[in-house]
Amino acid sequence: MSSSISFLDQVHRMFDKAAAHTSHEEGLLKQIRICNSVYHMEFPLVRDDGSIKVVKAWRSEHSHHKLPTKGGIRFAMAVNEDEVAALATLMTFKCAIVNVPFGGAKGGIQVDRKEFSEAEIERITRRYTYELFSKNFIGPGIDVPAPDYGSGPKEMAWIVDTYRSLTNDPLTALGCVTGKPIAQGGVRGRTEATGRGTYFGIKEAVSFADDMESRGLTTGIEGKTIIVQGLGNVGYHAAKFIQEGGGIIVGLAEYEGAIYDENGLDVDAVVAHRKETGSILDFPGATNLAQSSDALEMPCDILIPAALEGVITSENAARIKAKIIGEAANGPVTADADAILLEKGVLIIPDVYLNAGGVTVSYFEWLKNLSHVRFGRMSKRFEQASNERIVKALADSMGATISEEEMMQVTKGADELDLVNSGLEETMATAYHEIRDVAIEKKTDFRTAAFIVAINKVAVSYSEMGIFP
Ligand code: GLU
Repeated sequence: MSSSISFLDQVHRMFDKAAAHTSHEEGLLKQIRICNSVYHMEFPLVRDDGSIKVVKAWRSEHSHHKLPTKGGIRFAMAVNEDEVAALATLMTFKCAIVNVPFGGAKGGIQVDRKEFSEAEIERITRRYTYELFSKNFIGPGIDVPAPDYGSGPKEMAWIVDTYRSLTNDPLTALGCVTGKPIAQGGVRGRTEATGRGTYFGIKEAVSFADDMESRGLTTGIEGKTIIVQGLGNVGYHAAKFIQEGGGIIVGLAEYEGAIYDENGLDVDAVVAHRKETGSILDFPGATNLAQSSDALEMPCDILIPAALEGVITSENAARIKAKIIGEAANGPVTADADAILLEKGVLIIPDVYLNAGGVTVSYFEWLKNLSHVRFGRMSKRFEQASNERIVKALADSMGATISEEEMMQVTKGADELDLVNSGLEETMATAYHEIRDVAIEKKTDFRTAAFIVAINKVAVSYSEMGIFP
């Protein structure tokens, strides 16, 4: 990152700003802030050609005020201990904000995925899981990893498979990791959850007339212009749901460059073009931007950084034209940039809230794994039958006829995906209101308010434990 202040220090600065608004005892605040444990491992990988490569990896558990601890595993060359600790810290606050009963954690494996074969990545992932297991850093009630930058359902399948072969508690084993493929105990809706949650969060944010008017905007997503940086799992899904909700995606950025079209870009068409040509550049009708980061400074209503941390710094913050920044990535705005943007009146919807959809649906997956039942299995048919009775009675009383297809549409009981999505929407809406109320009460920005909400909740958990006076 371009700032000389480390990522963890940035997070601590944000924490301290919020902590100043609370009246908790200094020692308790210190306990809430520090990272409880970090496991740094180095292990050998026998490469496909027989040579040996030493791989560096970490798992950081920030807070054990609730168990298990929870957070993804990042596969990237830039991973280091500071980053993993910062991301684990954010996870603690993220979980608290959306009322997910977990402590925060994060893992990192220092690899450039492009340099390794699939079989090598599998061996690395399995060995990493073994290391976690042998040091008691993984388990359904201990620490539950998930996907993050550079990892996805496939890696989670290797993790659960390795864990199952090691544990003597097969009954709960599926709950040792989330973000798994459906066939391996995953839950429907998890893959797109962070992007969908980002959409729900932004939808909530733009629904407040006061907050929009003061920035010269009207309410609603419809017609708003949006730039998304990063077309990975989070960025792609956020852009897609926003487009479906009526937003106009005017800019998209990836590492090879960025494209801009004030009339709007079709997200799926851009993805198809990238697949075909290997780049998002030269998309028909769009203007190429030389540098990917140029996209951040183009005119739009909402800017969504959805890749890595530290992309909006004191260097480029003053040139940002967006009136709203939705932090789909973790830590995209440095603490210095934050101050500059707030001064300009930009509404920053913070990462600890906005990208919490992933861990929220991970929580649903974990519940499903522990209960051994698919959501909706017990209720779907019952709901449908009751709905049918109501609709039939209404239709009869009105002398109306209703086709079988119409009947199906109105009476359908909720299946797993319906329940996951509605649980996610409810979670994101409730949390936004909580944060906004605190922002108004404390006359502060939304990030600080989100941290205040989180600190207070973690403090309550500690007091419920009865450890502290
Ligand atoms: N890696 C995601 C995050 O940063 C998801 C974590 C999880 O589901 O545990 O929030």
